[in-house]
Order: sequence, then C-alpha cells, then structure tokens
Amino acid sequence: MALAPTQPQSDLNNGPTAVGSLANVGPARAKAFAELGLQTTADLLNYFPRSYRSESAERSIRELEPDIVQPSRGEVVAVDYLSGGRRPRFEATLDDGTGKLALVFFNGAWLRGKIRPGMHLRVKGPVKFFRNLAQMSNPSWEPIEPDAPTIEAAKFVSIYPASSRLPSEAIARTIAENIDVIVEPVREWFSKDMLSRRQLIGRRTAYRHIHIPTTDQEAASAKRRLQYDELMLMQLGLGIGKRLRQGRLTAPKMKLDKLLDERIRGRFGFSLTNAQQNAIWEIAKDLQSGQPMNRLLQGDVGSGKTVVALYAMLVGVANKLQSAILAPTEVLAEQHFLTLSRAMEGSSVNVALVTSRTKRADRAKVLADLQSGRVHLAVGTQALIQEDIAFANLGLVVVDEQHRLGVRQRAVLKDKGLSPHYLVMTATPIPRTLALSYFADFDVSVIDELPPGRQPIKTRWVTSKQSTVAYELVKREVANGRQAYIVLPQIDGNGTGADNEADAKSVKKEFERLSTGPLKELKLAMLHGQMSADEKQAAMAAFRAGRVQVLVATTVIEVGVDVPNATVMLIDNAERFGLSQLHQLRGRVGRGEHASYCVLLSDAATESAKSRMTAMTDTTDGFDIAERDLQLRGPGEFFGTRQHGLPEFKLTDVTSELELLADAKADAMELLEHDPRLSSREHAALREALISQFGDSLQLAQVG
Ligand code: ADP
Ligand code: MG
Repeated sequence: MALAPTQPQSDLNNGPTAVGSLANVGPARAKAFAELGLQTTADLLNYFPRSYRSESAERSIRELEPDIVQPSRGEVVAVDYLSGGRRPRFEATLDDGTGKLALVFFNGAWLRGKIRPGMHLRVKGPVKFFRNLAQMSNPSWEPIEPDAPTIEAAKFVSIYPASSRLPSEAIARTIAENIDVIVEPVREWFSKDMLSRRQLIGRRTAYRHIHIPTTDQEAASAKRRLQYDELMLMQLGLGIGKRLRQGRLTAPKMKLDKLLDERIRGRFGFSLTNAQQNAIWEIAKDLQSGQPMNRLLQGDVGSGKTVVALYAMLVGVANKLQSAILAPTEVLAEQHFLTLSRAMEGSSVNVALVTSRTKRADRAKVLADLQSGRVHLAVGTQALIQEDIAFANLGLVVVDEQHRLGVRQRAVLKDKGLSPHYLVMTATPIPRTLALSYFADFDVSVIDELPPGRQPIKTRWVTSKQSTVAYELVKREVANGRQAYIVLPQIDGNGTGADNEADAKSVKKEFERLSTGPLKELKLAMLHGQMSADEKQAAMAAFRAGRVQVLVATTVIEVGVDVPNATVMLIDNAERFGLSQLHQLRGRVGRGEHASYCVLLSDAATESAKSRMTAMTDTTDGFDIAERDLQLRGPGEFFGTRQHGLPEFKLTDVTSELELLADAKADAMELLEHDPRLSSREHAALREALISQFGDSLQLAQVG
C-alpha cells in the first residue's frame, strides 16, 4: 500500500521509489514483494521485523563451549555412514588446526557424496563433548571456500514476516542493501529538546536500527521511538478532532442554580456519595459551557451511575430540553423507565419508553410527542434513534452500559442537525491504557466509591460435584426472604455441562431439572432471548416484585439489572464466560444492605478458565478485573466485536505501554497548546503524517 500522495509544497522529496527499481531486485522478486503488499520503499520502511535472532561470532574448534549453539568451520578429514542400529547416521569429522569436531547427522543417508573429504564447511549447531571430543548433532552446514572470511562479531539477523516465495532472509537482504535509500525521506518530527527530554533517538536512526540493529539495546530504543511516534500521531489526531468539535459545534447552554440543584436532589431517596457528587459537578460544568459534552462516566458495577445520569437529564428538562437515555437491552430500558417514572411521580415531567415492544399505535403517539416536545424524558433501546424519530429539542443523550455510542448512531443524530451533549456510561471499567488511547477524545469522570452500607460479595468457585452446596445456599437465602439468579450459557440444548462436551447447559433444561429437583419448593421463572418482549417484561416484573424467587436466565441480565433484594448469583458452566462478563453478572447482587454471594459452578479444566475463576475469587475490584481481562484477551476482544474507529497499531501493544502512552498524550496536548493546527514550519512533517493517516477528517490540508 502506497503512502497517500504528499503535498506539492511538501519538503519531502519526490515520492517513494518502486521496489522493482532497487539494486538486486528483478521482476520476479518485485512481484513476490508486491504479493506481501510491498511496492515502494515507503512500504519497506514500515515493514518491521517480527523479531531478531542473534548470531554469535564464529569460533575455532578449540574455543567451542558445551551446550550452546555456535558457528565454527573446518576441513572435512573423514566421513562415514553407519547403516546398522536403530538410527542410521552419517558422520563427518572437521579439523581446523586447533582441534577436531565430529558432526553427526541422523538419517543422513542423503549426505553421502554431498559432504566429502577435502571440502571446507561452515557449520552451526549445539555442541556436546564426548570423551573430550566436540560433537554437533544435526548442525546446519554450508560449503565455503577455505579462505572465506570468518563471521567476526556477534550479528543480529532481522526476521521479517515472509511468504513461501519470499523468505525472510531475502527481505532482510534487500532492505539492508538499500537502507540508505529507504530511510532517506524520513524527517524528524520533534525538537531536539523534546527528544532529549523523553530520551528518544532520532527518527531516521530509529528506522535504520529497527531494520538493522547491531545490539538488543539498539533494537529496543528504535522500537521505543517508533512506538512513541505511533502513539503521538494518534493522540494528535484525537486531540485535533476534539478541538475541531469544540470549536465548531455548539450545544445547548444550560442553566443550573442552587434551587434547581436542591429540587433535583430531593427526587432521590438517598444522599449522594462524594464520588457521585464530583461526577455531577463535572457534568454540570459541561452542560453549562455551551460546547458539547463528550464524557465517559466510569464506575464499577453498583456504584450508582444511573442517578448521576438522571441528575443530568433533569437539568436538561429544567432548561426546556429533552433528554434521552439509551440502554443496550429492553430489560434494562424498562428498568430505567421504571426508575425515571418513579423519580418523576407527581411532577409535570413526561417520561416515555420506546422499545421494539412499544405497540404500533402507542409508538406513533410517542413519536408525535417527542416531535412536539410534550415528552421530556425518553428511554429506549437503539430503536429510539432510528431514522424516523425526530425530537423537538434534544439536549442530552445518555448511553448506558455501552462503551461507545456507535459511530453510525452518532452520525444519524448529527444528520438531524443536532449536537446534543453526550454522557456515556461504561458497562466495564476501562483500564487506564485503553481510556487514554481509545477514549482519548472523551473527558472522564470516575465514581470510585460504592454507596454506603454495601457488604462485600463473597465469591466461591465450586465444582459440579459440590453443586448441592450451591443449591443449599440458594434455598437458605430464599428462606431469609432474599432472591437468586441462576445463569446458564445458553437457552436451548441438552448439554450436561461437562467440560469436555461441546454442549453447554441450557436455561430450559436447567429450569426443568431445578424446578422438579433441587429447588422444587421454590418459585422459579425463566428469562431468555427467545421469550417475547411481553413475556420477558412479565418475568422481570414478577422477580422485581418478589413473586418469583429464583430467576433462571441467560446473560440477558448481564448488565444494569437492579433488584437489590437479590443476594445470590449462581453462574453455571462459569468457564464459558469471559472475565468481564462474570464480573458484570456478579454485579447483579450486592446492591442492597444484605450480604451477597456469587457462586461459580465450574469444572474448569483449561488454564485460561482456571485463571478467570481465580481472578473472580481473588478480587471484586472492577478495575483490577478489567486489567486482567485485557491481559487475557487483548483489546480487540475486550471490546467484544471489533468496533470502527479504533486505531490500530503496528508496533505498540497499548496494554503494556502505559507510560509511553501517557507521555505521548501529555506531549501531544502540549504541542497542540502551542500550535493547534500544526501550521508552523517545524511541524510540517508531522502534519503530513497526520494527513496521510487521518485524511481530510482533521481538516489540516488547507492549513499552511
Ligand atoms: P450502576 O453503577 O451499576 O449502574 P445503579 O445506578 O444501578 O448502579 O445503582 C445501584 C443501586 O444503588 C441502585 O439500587 C441505586 O438506587 C442505589 N444507589 C445509587 N446511589 C446511591 C446512594 N448514593 N446511596 C444509596 N443507594 C444508592
Ligand atoms: Mg447501570
């Protein structure tokens, strides 16, 4: 893939050179390069080695040491083929004047006639000593001229991702032979000052050394510099995008005073925690600023994010603006609807619910009311922002329990000519690395405190043999007036849940088994995605009201569901769930004043399953869990499906480069502080790079 064309006024010279015109690259080779996507010197520049191998210096036979791989050489003075015995072998003896070295090739019949007395060989292999005689078994070897130069110094070999037609050595050779041409266009991005402050090597040197290092250290500092560049570029891109939005977009400027503040608080049945209080201050400031809020509200499960959102929504209402809250599931949307309706009881504020369950006639009315402004607070699933829905004056959108409002949904809202304030509440605490990288364009508020009176959740991992313990716990808690969830990995199917079986246990089968067996005295209900929206709502309502004591469910209850009287979360076939998911499920209990329990029922056999179970029993801290989950799965999977708009890195694993990332972010912000559009001459190369990576979206092209 070629770089985007550079600007005419650019101080880069003429474009990159085609690989085919390089020294020692014929048409066939050029084609093989093209198949790897490498067509120009610019492509080669950014085609980094996967790893390095160090080649030690050649040693005379007398200098060979046992048990390490070393290269040596000598003249073949004897050969022998031993066909008897269980392992036929070819043997040769080398002599270099300092000693003798035996070479043993098992199954080496094919070497007869290939390795002959009088030849000189360079060999490399692991050395052993037998009766003081050095021996290499199955060494690599090549014939050499007697006077071929010895490999003097230890040497680094770069290993490139290769193809069958183009081995790594060929790529390495082409790059090494042309390195001057390849790195020539590279320009420094940063001032000497900054480089020395961050102890970074120059950009061109970094490119040279990442391809052709001579020591580990050189390779490492080259990689660090280029990682820093990657991170810096992303931070600059996000930073410029953010400034652009702030500069261009205006959002409703809301008013908030002490009286309103008190009136809103009066609607909550409790006083806020300090952490909730701080988050509210930060949000209130945004709402009053006249620029669109883009804020991420982080807080562990049960930390009380909803009430913070509700506060913001009510500020909107008081300012005669509509607010909407989007939930990922209908179950959660219904719950928010209940919470909001309850909080608004006896007021003139109208709350409406829009889900797929909304009957067609009702839906038409709700839509009309949204359009006329009669409805002040709208609660819904994604259905709420489908194309056909218009708002009279949407001031705030809250997105609950999702990492991001999809790029697409946001575009829909923008098309409607609105730039409302956004508040995004996360389902899973986002590790700092990811917060700094993927969410760099969000301001972040953190609720790092649970409401008072919560008791820690006791988590236990039990095997299927001990399942009685788990059911006894459920019965005991129900006898005390509490409730329980039992979560299974699938709806249908006859799985026994054995670890070696493909088939996991299911809601339907377990519901049958439990209600006629271990839990037959209790009132059970099912909740899963095959039920109609009405059935789901009815089951959830019955559970909420306490008419159902045990809810046997899939992960439909994973996020958000809030029934404080539930104190047991029993997760069956727990090895089939991801770590963040387990933590979310656990968060369904421990939401009231009662002691709560999470039981992981699992015969986990794999290492990764075991480490998830132990992580759960080790800690209840969501940030800790999220870090571990990220380590286990990597950022792509951590977010579930791959999402658009997440930057990809060639060199950097953001999960392990927190410090470098934080440095890059700080430097990017400082740089933009002084040169917001990178229009100064010293930043020309950097601006080029941004344009080529982000295209026109940053509107830098017309600058300067
Ligand atoms: P989450 O952050 O997981 O979305 P919720 O907003 O659902 O948490 O709140 C969890 C529970 O805690 C709810 O029942 C809520 O009413 C209650 N709650 C929230 N804030 C407080 C508080 N300051 N004092 C007491 N209870 C609170
Ligand atoms: Mg919530």
